[in-house]
Amino acid sequence: MTDLHRLSIREMTEGLNSAQFSSRELTQHYLNRIAHIDTQVHSYITVTAEQALAQADAADVVLKAGNAPVLTGVPIAHKDIFCTQGIKTTAGSKILDNFISPYDATVVAKGKVAGLVTLGKVNMDEFAMGSTSENSFYGATANPWNLSHVPGGSSGGSAAAVAADLAPFATGTDTGGSIRQPASFCGLTGLKPTYGRVSRFGMIAYASSLDQGGPMARSAEDCAYLMNVMAGHDAKDSTSVEKDVDNYVTNLNATSVKGLRIGIPKQYFNVAGLDADVKARVEESLRKLEEMGATLVEIDLNMTESYVPTYYLIAPAEASSNLQRYDGVRYGYRCENPVDLTDLYKRSRSEGFGKEVQQRILIGTYALSAGYYDAYYVKAQKVRRLIQQDFLKAFESVDVIAAPSSPTTAYKIGANLSPTEMYLGDIYTLAVNLAGLPAINAPVGFDHNNLPVGLQLIGNYWSESQLLSVVHQYQQATDWHTKRAAIAEENA
Ligand code: GLN
Repeated sequence: MTDLHRLSIREMTEGLNSAQFSSRELTQHYLNRIAHIDTQVHSYITVTAEQALAQADAADVVLKAGNAPVLTGVPIAHKDIFCTQGIKTTAGSKILDNFISPYDATVVAKGKVAGLVTLGKVNMDEFAMGSTSENSFYGATANPWNLSHVPGGSSGGSAAAVAADLAPFATGTDTGGSIRQPASFCGLTGLKPTYGRVSRFGMIAYASSLDQGGPMARSAEDCAYLMNVMAGHDAKDSTSVEKDVDNYVTNLNATSVKGLRIGIPKQYFNVAGLDADVKARVEESLRKLEEMGATLVEIDLNMTESYVPTYYLIAPAEASSNLQRYDGVRYGYRCENPVDLTDLYKRSRSEGFGKEVQQRILIGTYALSAGYYDAYYVKAQKVRRLIQQDFLKAFESVDVIAAPSSPTTAYKIGANLSPTEMYLGDIYTLAVNLAGLPAINAPVGFDHNNLPVGLQLIGNYWSESQLLSVVHQYQQATDWHTKRAAIAEENA
C-alpha cells in the first residue's frame, strides 16, 4: 500500500485491528517516507528506526492475540523535549547533545503502554524558546507548505513532521503558544490542555508554571485519540491534577455548536500587526460556526496589551532558574580544559547555550535579582492574576473565546526579526498559558501565498472535550483539515 499515510488515526486503528496491514508495514512505510522526504523538511533530530521496528513487531503480536489497546501499532513522533530512555533527548540544545535519558517521560511511558510506536524525536527551538524552530542547535526545519518558510515554534518539528506525513501525529508542548502557533503555520489541529491535565514529568522544563504538553495532528478526532493517552494525574508531577479524565474520542459529538456562545474579544481584532488575510479567514470560520448555530458575542479582554510584557518577564524568570542545572558538571556539555570551577561553569554554559537562551537567562536573572524582584517579577505576577480574572469574567457570558492563533502566517526562514518583533507575534497565545486555560488551533484556510491560517478557540478550565468537540463538528462541515501540502502528496 502506498497511501497508508493518508489514513486518519481511526482508520489506522481499524486497519491494524482487522489485519489489513501490520504495524511493521505501517512503521516501515513512515520510515521510508522519513528517509526520502525529511532530507527537505528536517523535522527529525533522531530517527529510531531499529527500535521502532522492534516495537512494531511487538505490537503485531499483541494485535494478533486480540483485545489490543486501541492505538496498538500506531506510529508517533515525540518532541525532543520529552525524555526517552536510551534515546538521545536534546531539547534542541548543544548542551544536551550527548544526553541519553535514563528514564521515560510519563507521556512517553503512557504511549508505550498504549502500544504506540516511536518513530523518533523531532526538532524544536532550543529549550522551547522561540516561534520559528530556527533557535535549534540542529538547524532550521522547513514548513511543508513552502520550504522557504518556517513551520513555527517551538514545536516546529512536530508540526512539520505531521504536515509532511512523516508521522500520523506528534506530541508537542506549549508554554506560550508552541503547540497552537506551529499547528496554525502548518495547517494542523493542536490542543494546549488546561495546566495540570498532562504530566510534566520527564518533560524538560522551560517555564514550569506555564509548560503543558498536548497533541498535534491533522484533525480534532486524531488529537482526541492522542489526548486519551496523554491526559491524567501523575503522582510523579505534583502540578498534575487529580481529576477524572474524559474520553475525548467518545465525547467528540458531545457538545453542540447549536447555541454555543462564542466570545469575540474586541481588542483582539484591532491588533496593529494582524494580517488582512488572517483576519478574513478567521472571520469566515466564525461565520461558518454561526451558520452551524453558534452565537457570536462581542466581549472585552482589557488586559490584552499586557500579555507580551507579562509573559516575557515570567517565562525568562522561571527559565533562568530551571536552566541553572546545566552547569557542565553533572550531565550535558562540558567545555574542554577548564582552568578552574568558575571557568568550567562559564564556558560550558556560554558554549553550550545558544543566543536566545542566553538572552533569556540574563533577563530572567535580572528580573529576579534583589532590588528588582518586586518591581518586575512580583508586579508581573499581579498582572498575571488580572489577566486570569479578565478571562473568568468573560466566561460568565460565553462558552468559548475565538481569536487568531497568530497575527500572521509563517515567516520566511532567516527573516531575522528582532526579539521584540518576534515576541509580538505571540500576542494571541500567551494569555492562555498565563491563565492556565485550554485552547485549540484549527486550520481555517490559506493566505494569498497558500500558507495556512488558524483559528484559536479558548475554553474555560477542563473544557478540552468541548474544544475538541466543537472543532470536530466544524471539521465535519468543512475540509480545511484534509488539505495536504504538495510534499505530503509525494510518495517515498
Ligand atoms: N514563542 C514563545 C516563547 O518563545 C512560546 C514558546 C513556547 O510555547 N514554548 O517563549
